[in-house]
This record gives sequence, C-alpha cells and structure tokens, in this order.
Amino acid sequence: MPVKTVIACLLLLICSGISVAQAPTSQTLYAEWLQQRITHTDPSRVRHVDLKKYLDRLRAEGVTVHEVGRSVADREIYQMEFGTGPLKVFMWSQMHGDEPTATSALIDLFHYLQQNRRTSTVSSIERSITLRAVPMLNPDGAELFQRRNLQFIDINRDARALVTPEGQLLKKLRDEWSPDIGFNLHNQNPRTAVGGTGRQAAISLLAVPFDESGSDSPGRIRSKKICARIVEALAPFISGHIGRYDDTFNPRAFGDLITRWGTPVVLIETGALRGRSEMDLVQLNFVALTSVLKGLADGSVERADPRVYDGLRFNESGTIFSLIIRNALVINRLETGQARVSPFTSDIAINEDAAWSESKSQRRASVQDVGDLSVFYGLEEADARGYYVTCRQGVLRPGTEAALLFYKKERAVKIDWGAADLEARFPPDAVYRNGEWSGRENLKSSTVMGKE
Ligand SMILES: [Zn+2]
Repeated sequence: MPVKTVIACLLLLICSGISVAQAPTSQTLYAEWLQQRITHTDPSRVRHVDLKKYLDRLRAEGVTVHEVGRSVADREIYQMEFGTGPLKVFMWSQMHGDEPTATSALIDLFHYLQQNRRTSTVSSIERSITLRAVPMLNPDGAELFQRRNLQFIDINRDARALVTPEGQLLKKLRDEWSPDIGFNLHNQNPRTAVGGTGRQAAISLLAVPFDESGSDSPGRIRSKKICARIVEALAPFISGHIGRYDDTFNPRAFGDLITRWGTPVVLIETGALRGRSEMDLVQLNFVALTSVLKGLADGSVERADPRVYDGLRFNESGTIFSLIIRNALVINRLETGQARVSPFTSDIAINEDAAWSESKSQRRASVQDVGDLSVFYGLEEADARGYYVTCRQGVLRPGTEAALLFYKKERAVKIDWGAADLEARFPPDAVYRNGEWSGRENLKSSTVMGKE
C-alpha cells in the first residue's frame, strides 16, 4: 500500500474516531448474542403462545409491535418495527410452520436493537433504516410443526393464487409499504450439502431472481452484495458450510414474485451443522441479519463484491444421509422375486426425519439406499464389518422402515434365519430402529463426516 494511502486511511480512522473503534465485528455480535438474547427455547418448540410472550416483552421494552392479520385458525399475526430511516427493509419468517430458526433470531434482533440504541452502530441503523418484520407468518403450521397452513396449502406456492389468508397478508404488507429490500427466512433439509464438497450447508443464500433467465438488475446486484456481506460475517464460524440455493425462477413463490413486484428479496435458508444445536443456528441468523443491517447503514454492503455470491457453490441433496452403515453382510430372510438372495456385503444409507406427536418429538427412519455408498457421507457412520445385518421385516430395500438387527458373524451358523420369532429366539448383538440404538458400542463407529 502506498504511504499516501496509509496516511489517508489513518486520518479517516482518527477522524471517524470512536464509531469505527466501537463498530462490532461479527465475532463481537456472536458474543453479544450469548449475553443479550432473550430466546432460550429451541425454535422447534416455540409455538404461537410463546411468540406472544416474547412480543409482550419487546413491547414492554418499547418496540413497536402490531397485530396485522389473522391465520386460518384466527391466530394473530404480528409485525414489529424499528427505526425511522429512509431505507425500508422487510423481513418475514416461518411461512413454513416447521422452519422456525429465524423467528427466534428476529426476536433477539429486535431486542438487541432496542437495548443498544445508544451505541453508534444501532443509532446509525435507526437513523438510516426502517425495519419491519413478521415473525411466524404461519402460526397454525407452527402449532402442528408442519410446513403447510391449515388449508394444507404451501403458502410459498400461493403468491399468485392468494388463496391463503397468510399469503394475502404478506402481499398486502408488501404492496402497502413497497419496501426496498426483503428477507425471506426459511429452513432447509439438514442433509443439504454444499455442492461437490460433502460438507453440510449450515446456511444457504439466494439473491432471488426476478425472471427465468436470472438477469442482473441494480436490485439483484444489491441482493448479491447483501449475500456477500453475510458470507463475510459468517465465515469465522461456518467457513465452507455456506451454499447457494437453487436459483430457478418459481412463478408461484413469494420470494420470486415479491422481487418481481419491486422488492428485491434475499432468501436465507438455515440448514444444520453436525454437533451444533438449534440455538447455535439462531445465533448465526442473528449475526447474519445484524451484520446486514449494520452494513446497509454504514455502506459496507454497497462496497461488497457480488462475485463472492456468484462464487458460492450450489446446494446439493442426496449425498449426505443421517446414518450410513458400512460393510455390513446383509441377509434377506424372505424370498424376493421367488429367489433366495445369498448374503452380500453392502453399505446401508438411512435418513431420520422428525415426526410430530403430541407428547414428544420422535424420529422415523427409513432405508434410502443399499450397495456401494462410498461416495456418500453419513452425519453418523457405523462400521458393521464382521456383522450380519437383517431387516426386521425380512428384506432390506429402499423405502422400508429402518429396523435393523445385527449379529456377530461367528454366531451365524447357529441362527435359524427363517425363524418367525428370530429376535426372541436369537437376541441380536445390536439393534437400530428409528434413530435409537441398543448395543451400538459393539460396532465400530466413525462419527467424523467425510469432510468437515
Ligand atoms: Zn421454507
């Protein structure tokens, strides 16, 4: 760097003084969230009644919160507001009821903004931005922890037909206010990978296109810069785990149509990261959103490089599974297609998905694939070398419930595989069913993913 530039930079730093020195980095925001957050319940357990308690607290702190509409089941839908600046920023979360992370992040964000108004960073946000946010657009879906609303319509495919009251409300809020930037906040499948890397996509971003050809416009370039700012903010925590969401234009989806209606939208999809909790993902959302607001206020978004976004790898699905069992000797105990299949060595891929129930969260596991799965990754892996594996139902094949019985190889000669009461007569050395293990310690486990 030439001496003149160095001096100019120094002068700039000295002149802008304290505000530069105090501007929080994403590491500071990360730490501040830990100290200042008001959400302590896992987002997947937050229901409408809990949201109302959070909002009561924000109201008591002085945040503007209004009821703006009702769901199919007449649950109130709220909008929060902060700031008085000319740049209008609009965020909405949980239009899919089972995608809750950002709802908690928005609560913590508004609390943070309200409590830190005296800092130079937040006061500059307050002066330059008006922020409105709808947390939990689909409270009925959240209640049942299901994607769709109570008409069983996917609100995010209702932007054109507008049959859902929640979708109508979102359109009305946008049309009446015409925000400059929108944030569409979702969760994606935890088994989403950053394309070609085998790494879990903890966060995926999309600068939403407004046409089929994915053209750039000043609005879309700004969306890309916002994404670049998010990548920069999150890099210290999840480097390599940020993907780019499928950018095919979808003529029924809100993000796409809101962009076309004149409000460029950034989509943030929260995935998962092995070993990190739901609250850790709230923290990442908080850091991303706060960093963007800060960057919009201080101009660093404008200076961001949109090519950082263009350079992100696209999401990939089907390469990460919940569990891969390696090197098992599979025994199919029933005839398939009138043939008895001899034991064969194989990997087994299993996915576990949450199944909602009144009393507790449950998991349902199903066999996804059988064969050489060496090119795939399991969030958990177990090495079944030296074990026979048989499916409780008799035949191991994709689509069946994953209920697996493991027997040490040396026991095999004494086992009558055709026995109807196999499990009772010959107790297995290990059992896996719906995410639950017994005797897991007998197998060699490798809990490290292919690539971290
Ligand atoms: Zn979604």
